[in-house]
Amino acid sequence: MAGFLIKTFGCQFNELYSATIADALRRGGHRPSDSLGEASLVIINTCAVREKAEEKAFSFLGEAAKLVGASRIVFMGCTATLDRQRAVRIAGRGLNVVEGTAGMEQVLSLVGTIVPLGEVDCTAPRSLFPTADIELIRGCESYCTYCIVPRSRGPEVVIDAGEVLHRAERAIGSGFSELLFLGQNINRYRSSLGGLVETMFAVDELDGNFWFWFLSSHPANFTPEEVKRVMGLRHIEHRLHLPLQSGSDRILERMNRRYSIADYARLVEPIRENADWTLTTDIIVGFPGETNDDFAATVDVVRGFRFDGVFLAKYSDRPGTPASRMQDKVPPALIDERHSALLSIVQGLSEQSNQVLVGRCVDVLVLTVHAGGNAFGRSIDGRNVWFSCSEPAPGIGTFVSVTIDHGSREGLYGTRVC
Ligand code: SF4
Repeated sequence: MAGFLIKTFGCQFNELYSATIADALRRGGHRPSDSLGEASLVIINTCAVREKAEEKAFSFLGEAAKLVGASRIVFMGCTATLDRQRAVRIAGRGLNVVEGTAGMEQVLSLVGTIVPLGEVDCTAPRSLFPTADIELIRGCESYCTYCIVPRSRGPEVVIDAGEVLHRAERAIGSGFSELLFLGQNINRYRSSLGGLVETMFAVDELDGNFWFWFLSSHPANFTPEEVKRVMGLRHIEHRLHLPLQSGSDRILERMNRRYSIADYARLVEPIRENADWTLTTDIIVGFPGETNDDFAATVDVVRGFRFDGVFLAKYSDRPGTPASRMQDKVPPALIDERHSALLSIVQGLSEQSNQVLVGRCVDVLVLTVHAGGNAFGRSIDGRNVWFSCSEPAPGIGTFVSVTIDHGSREGLYGTRVC
């Protein structure tokens, strides 16, 4: 039986697709391998959101082609959709390229022509245990000017709420403790039950001991009333990830984000007023035309909202996007400078946010358990938690309470109490 290696770049969707393929391969009797030298089947699941991830995927493809041969490689995902020719030039004509990111069926049938597959179960791949990723909506029609996703993933395709609930119920029934609902812009979800919030209410009614949350929210398609309703659910994790992207209204308009800083402030007010919830965001530094004043506004806004975590990205051109055609690019050295300045601010904010919890007891989902009484998990408000625990060690996927002794910018450190 073939050893297989799956290299995954990019978002949670790619993680889900790779895990589904890995499960089908395992059920077919194949074993996973960490080394290209031992693999006889290589799957490269690509991401086109940043140039760096694309270049890494092409470089890995070149290496794999030399060691494994093009005909034993499947090249899939956003980069495969956008730049098939370059992939074939690198690996050779026998390369298996899956264009389009509309779903798993095409990938699985292609992989099945190379090696026999076991049963395919798209409900909740076991390798992601204890988290079941569940798609609500694929593709995107929001057209932010810097983003390649509307081109690479195509128009929105909605999974009906009945199917979503079926997958959620099956995942909980087979022992998963956490459900993560996915959509590129999940707030545009509409189905037989209504929108995202109505569907989350139906999930909240399911029996079982589980937590859930959802990604990614878009401020233009969320309302303060909806935020408040979601916060009242029984099983919801106490965290909202709401990408802001810039603190300047002028830049937000150029990004085609369709909200202002004042709109964003209204949305997050219920979160900021509730100390049990965390708020995290994404910021792009150096978008074309970003002046010193725009950047200063971003710094002020990041401080003002006291984000618990910020994912910072340096702007990079994605060919074919409206932003790539904008003339007033920020010089790379200035982007680096702004990135470093903002990074030290957001690290400080994360550290302060984590230190507030010292002495408190938090609920934690156990994700890994190490020998010697150490374990790692995630708190109900989304923080990394490293903790010590006496015997018997908790099982992966169980919920424990941890008293926090120390907080750093990376997370919390403590001791299990029960
Ligand atoms: S909402 Fe905007 S940033 Fe997110 S995937 Fe769609 S176009 Fe890209």
